[in-house]
Amino acid sequence: MRIRVGILGATGAVGQTFVALLDGHPWFEVTALAASERSAGKPYREAANWISGTEMPAWAADLVVQDCVPELDCDVVFSGLDASVAGDIEAAFARAGYAVVTNARNYRMDPTVPLLIPEVNPDHVALIERQDWGSNGFIVTNPNCSTVGLVVALKPLHDAFGVDAVHVVTMQALSGAGYPGVPSLDSLANVVPFIGGEEDKMYHETRKLLGTLGDAGIEDAPVIVSAQCNRVPVLNGHTECVSVRLKTPATAAEVADVLRGWKSPIAGLDLPTAPKQTIRVHNDERHPQPRRHADAERGMQVGVGRVQDCPVLGVKFVVLSHNTARGAAGGAILNAELLASNGRFDAVLAGRREAVQA
Ligand code: NAP
Repeated sequence: MRIRVGILGATGAVGQTFVALLDGHPWFEVTALAASERSAGKPYREAANWISGTEMPAWAADLVVQDCVPELDCDVVFSGLDASVAGDIEAAFARAGYAVVTNARNYRMDPTVPLLIPEVNPDHVALIERQDWGSNGFIVTNPNCSTVGLVVALKPLHDAFGVDAVHVVTMQALSGAGYPGVPSLDSLANVVPFIGGEEDKMYHETRKLLGTLGDAGIEDAPVIVSAQCNRVPVLNGHTECVSVRLKTPATAAEVADVLRGWKSPIAGLDLPTAPKQTIRVHNDERHPQPRRHADAERGMQVGVGRVQDCPVLGVKFVVLSHNTARGAAGGAILNAELLASNGRFDAVLAGRREAVQA
């Protein structure tokens, strides 16, 4: 059965990536696009200033953009809403019985809401059972675009050696700031050493993602994370220089072996958006590079390179991940695929059918 999905914030940078990645999706059919009152009532081709590298799909071009109110003809909504409005709008959809799969930051640290990367913490999906919106609706979030690549690379190391402390310096793409984003006079031929709230998010989200689900909810992993976040004149793809102190010390060669040999816990599920190889360890010392490698496996692969011994913390490496794909829309679609494969949408679909018939 195809699942009918809507996209909230469909006109933005992340919303457009949803539209592009859901084109031809085998499980999900986009039946509604919604955005602000500036866009509502217009065909998508007029409302969206299309910045994606691929053509706007014909089915999307003709859809009329609607208001973000829970009357959309779908059962699951993906949200690429601006955080200033996402909290109230996503709650309204969950209350109305929709499943909300969101990129926005508003509910990420809510103790009842899964902050999910399917390859890292698929068991955290069970947190949904702690939500009570007075309906079958629920909210699932994915991490900040700079956290996701870091944590995908840390997870195998955390399992093998234990991660004690992390120092990370990011070089984040302009598309991470949405559209129109950073003014050209600030961004061209420049580096801006400040991205509001990002360093705190990397600390808290990493600890929740690597945390353990117990009777009392998620117990954060006691990992110290010190992040310094920079905006650089790159189109897509966040590059991060990471130094790690492991609980059980390991050499760079041992770390590279663990990353190379790591098996994703969702490998057997055949989720359509899952990359064949979640982590690619590059051998060429000039790689990974955002222009060459950010799009690997439709932007869902995380690249790791330059794995070296670090005289300060023990081991260091470079991570690259695509911010609007793996770090936003693609990550959310993969989350929804995991939810679908676990039957987590069944009650939502049944409840929405009853609501429509009533
Ligand atoms: P964006 O390009 O600025 O898009 C924002 C979207 O929100 C647009 O569709 C906009 O619609 C809609 N919107 C704004 N105000 C609204 C309102 N009052 N009511 C309804 N819709 C409204 O931002 P973005 O980069 O796509 O980011 C979207 C979300 O994803 C943010 O929460 C961001 O933090 C998060 N995120 C982004 C990235 C990334 O790499 N860009 C990565 C991870 C997470 P109009 O076009 O009609 O104004």
